[in-house]
Amino acid sequence: MAETYGNFIAGEWVQASSGKVFDSINPANTDELVARYQSSTAEDVKNAFDVAQKAQAAWAAMPAPNRGILLMRAAEILEKRADSVAADMTREEGKTLPEAKGEVVRAVNIFRYFGGEGARLSGETVPSERDGVFACTFRKPLGVVSLLTPWNFPIAIPAWKMAPALIAGNTVVIKPASLAPLCTVRLIEALHEAGLPKGVINMVTGSGSAIGDELITNPAVKAVSFTGSCEVGNGIQRKTVQRGIKTQLEMGGKNPTIVLRDADLNMATDIVVNGAFFSTGQKCTATSRALIEEAIFEDFAKLLVEKTRKLRVGSGMEKGIDIGPCVDDGQMQTVLRYIEIGKKEGAKLLCGGNRLTGAAYDKGYFVEPTIFSEVTPEMTIAQEEIFGPVLAVVPVKDFDAGIQMANNVKFGLSASLLTNQLNKVFSYINRIEAGLIIVNLPSAGVEYQLPFGGTKASSTGFREQGSVAVDFYSELRTVYLKHQI
Ligand code: NAP
Ligand code: MG
Repeated sequence: MAETYGNFIAGEWVQASSGKVFDSINPANTDELVARYQSSTAEDVKNAFDVAQKAQAAWAAMPAPNRGILLMRAAEILEKRADSVAADMTREEGKTLPEAKGEVVRAVNIFRYFGGEGARLSGETVPSERDGVFACTFRKPLGVVSLLTPWNFPIAIPAWKMAPALIAGNTVVIKPASLAPLCTVRLIEALHEAGLPKGVINMVTGSGSAIGDELITNPAVKAVSFTGSCEVGNGIQRKTVQRGIKTQLEMGGKNPTIVLRDADLNMATDIVVNGAFFSTGQKCTATSRALIEEAIFEDFAKLLVEKTRKLRVGSGMEKGIDIGPCVDDGQMQTVLRYIEIGKKEGAKLLCGGNRLTGAAYDKGYFVEPTIFSEVTPEMTIAQEEIFGPVLAVVPVKDFDAGIQMANNVKFGLSASLLTNQLNKVFSYINRIEAGLIIVNLPSAGVEYQLPFGGTKASSTGFREQGSVAVDFYSELRTVYLKHQI
């Protein structure tokens, strides 16, 4: 029997006032109901904010290093459960078990890292130009923050928003994506068992279109941190701008990997396969355009197709599977629609292009890893985020043409360059329009202790992760203190 999970408000698991629940289904086997969650109403969200607001002063008054100890304790609890939480993630979101385990470990590390930040929440002391004056800055929490997260990294993203928000002294209301709330439940269980005071973290589930507005416009909300699609993110910002509250948006990508003629072909094709297809291409940092120097294009494309054909697609719970399903029918239909558009606009399919059917495939949302060539810059599949296992390979005349094409999209999240030419590497670091600038590694695959975020339409600026993550969740106060009177 699948479990029904409550909202988490004031330290209790409670039912929504609607009395209704919704299902979450295993995308690798649609016969399997994974869990049920509350269909919350605006009333439930209001209640969560009231509770969070009441809990905030006491939480902020707790010494930050002690808040950190609670986060570290939660990390330890989660670490002990890593295998079962990973299995929860694979059943609900579809990524393979090793990928899910890696993500749980990432969440553990994030909690530990920000736990440590509790003892490092520093301001600065700066010499005053006046006699007998001491000048310094320190951080104040914002109050109550609202966190809205997507389904594709169902534990890492909630963790990398919650941890800096909490360590800075804010209380939190989080709404996880409806397709994958279970890992947020697991994070909250760990925090609760670690001894987090009641009301400090609260979770409401339910569809973004039904309760999203209250999560943004409730008067208690002092900041909104959102990761998801551009469409939803930009809609949120229109509302938060009116209220003048801090907003952090992490949105789509159309990430390039540029491969120069000196790159080792075996390494380069491995990196592109990894960046384009692992996690079914459902990473905001996935490679969706491989821009290959003409001189090596044919050899590169041949080896890439060979390796891609060998990828094993199936249930992420099974050993030896490389690529799991799309997260749901809607996402699969989007991917298939883009494949059709690619064909219609004149791109050439090198491999894949279809939904996988027959036997166990019929019960899941499986799409073949797909590669297009003859993709021109103005084509839809060269410009729009697909968020699935679809890659465009494009020959470029030389390095400069590669940079130009890489930058010729509205997004700027991550980019990768594969070469040993140091002068080109430096030129690329200078010229590439991306927040995450990667060399000789896949465009996807970043670490929690460094800032994360994009440029152009991908992000709004304030970085997540790393020590700067608390900049969003705190406000600096400046003190001038005359001590010689
Ligand atoms: P999404 O549809 O934009 O949803 C993100 C979150 O917002 C979900 O919790 C969703 O709830 C909620 N939401 C939906 N409509 C809302 C509204 N009107 N008001 C307030 N909240 C609302 O994105 P997704 O489909 O979950 O995730 C895929 C997208 O995320 C891709 O575009 C990907 O590039 C992006 N992404 C970006 C990053 C990054 O860091 N740059 C990382 C991961 C993913 P429901 O689930 O109930 O609809
Ligand atoms: Mg969505």
